[in-house]
This record gives sequence, structure tokens and C-alpha cells, in this order.
Amino acid sequence: MNKLLIVGTVAFDAIETPFGKTDKILGGAATYIGLSASFFNVQSAIVSVVGDDFPQEYLNLLTSRNIDISGLEVVKGGKTFFWSGRYHNDLNSRDTLDTQLNVLADFQPKVPQDYKNSDIVMLGNLHPLVQSSVLDQMETQPKLTVLDTMNFWMDCALPELLDVIKRVDVITINDEEARQLSGEYSLVKAAAKIHTMGPKYVVIKKGEHGALIFHNKEVFFAPALPLEEVFDPTGAGDTFAGGFAGYLTQSENISFENMKNAIIQGSNLASFCVEKFGTERMVDLDKTEVVSRLQQFKSLTQFEIEL
Ligand code: AMP
Repeated sequence: MNKLLIVGTVAFDAIETPFGKTDKILGGAATYIGLSASFFNVQSAIVSVVGDDFPQEYLNLLTSRNIDISGLEVVKGGKTFFWSGRYHNDLNSRDTLDTQLNVLADFQPKVPQDYKNSDIVMLGNLHPLVQSSVLDQMETQPKLTVLDTMNFWMDCALPELLDVIKRVDVITINDEEARQLSGEYSLVKAAAKIHTMGPKYVVIKKGEHGALIFHNKEVFFAPALPLEEVFDPTGAGDTFAGGFAGYLTQSENISFENMKNAIIQGSNLASFCVEKFGTERMVDLDKTEVVSRLQQFKSLTQFEIEL
């Protein structure tokens, strides 16, 4: 089985949407990526950190999905990373209310020996120095490295972020962040500028408006499934990234043609994530639902036109 190494936050989130409010619930970029990638036939591990306030029940959930957590450090007496956000009525934008790095502030990641030869490395959202350190620890060159990040790190660690961006093959980023990173409003120009920063493939996530993948002069678009109800978009971007990386790891094909399938797989999984609060929907999701919704994606975009 091919190996996928996942880095990112494992967190407590407090979320407010127009439909309700949660107290501290399970969240974090690596959590969503891991749950999403677990729908593929891959061997995966998470490298991250939590405090000893993190419930055993959440750790059990990750291991029940066959995610190796030997690289998930538990800091005695430490507090887990905490993020809180409030969504606007349209659910397309949100304000971060609070980010408490806690144990993440001086985290030194340790990649488990067994994963130093991973096929694909998914550098999920967290400090860019941690992302770089994980790449430094790899003993064989991964077939593909994918990076996801967020405006928070552009604001507070831009030079370190630019250093790690230089080293990866694929970047996944949302539209607003692509604009911030590139200083370009047009997403086509933004992608072209981000190419010059290093990544050969630039994936721009546009929430309910789908996702674009740019490579050289080529571009491909995957829609988001029009859903009757969106409950909580938290983690959709990470779920997308987990589906993208998980599918590519399973299929052993990292061509641009196959990346088109990978962004459909990512969009498909993300469409479930938003249906309930936090990780709830990803936890009760089963593979048959995933496959049947893929069929809906296919019919949504397939058309016969004679040229
Ligand atoms: P998404 O909705 O895909 O952007 O991801 C939301 C998840 O990212 C939440 O579960 C948060 O715990 C996590 N998160 C929020 N801010 C940060 C940050 N600055 N670094 C890493 N992870 C974050």
C-alpha cells in the first residue's frame, strides 16, 4: 500500500454559523485531511502535536480510521491548538475570532521512521517552519509534495512560507489567499505568479464555486456540487486537500490528467464535510455514499456537444 504523510494542526475549534454555535469540538487541518484520505486505500500517518487536554476518544477516532498517530506528540501539561471562527450569512466568508497556537508555538515535528519514505507528503496548514522541517526529514524524495496554507501564516511568517512554497510541487490555496499571496486580483494572473514561486501545479479553491487547477498554460475546473443545505464549511478546504492527496497516493499516477480526477475526488469529499458541524459528517460517512455522489458529479459536468 502506498504511503501518505500528513502534517497539519490537530485542534479544538469553536464555530459559529447562522445555524448554531459549538463549544470546543474536534478540528484541525490534519484531522480533516486524515479523515478524508481514509476513504482511499492508503497507509497514512499524521505528524502534529496536541496537549494532554486532548481527549483520548479523538485519538481513538483517528486510529479507528487506520491513521498512524505515532508522530502525533502529546505534550504533558500543554494546551491543544485552538481556533475559533464565525461565518457570515452567505457561508462563503468567515472571520477568525481567535487563534491560540499553544503547544504548536514550539513544536519540533518528528516524522516516524516508517514514513520517511512516503510516496506523497501532504503539508497541511500549520507553521511553515514545521512544514519545512518535515520535508528535511524525508530520506527519499517523495513522488509528490502538496502544500496547503492560510492567510494567518502569510501575515505572520511570510518569509518562512515563501521558503517552503519554493520546495513543493503542488499548492492548494483558496481564492482570497491566492490574491493575497500574489498581489493579483485575477485568479489566472495569481496562479501564474504563484507558479513562479515554485509549485508546478496551483490549485485554487473557490468554496461553493468549485476549484481550479493550473499547470503551465493549462487549466481545469471542478465544480462544487450544488447542495440544498450547507451547515458548516469548516474543514472543507482540508477535506478537499485530503481527498486530492489520498486519491493520488492510491492511484500511483501523478500526471496532470489524473490530478483532474483528484480535484473531483477532493470536491466530492468536501461536499459531505459541509453538511454537518465540524467533523461530524466525515465520521458517519460511508464509502457507498462517496461513490454514489461521484456519479452525481459526473452527470453534473458531462455533456455531449458536437464541435
Ligand atoms: P478550512 O475550513 O479548511 O480552512 O480549515 C479549518 C481548520 O483549520 C480548522 O479545523 C482549524 O482548526 C484549522 N486552522 C485554523 N487556523 C489555522 C492556522 N492558522 N493554522 C493551522 N490550522 C488552522
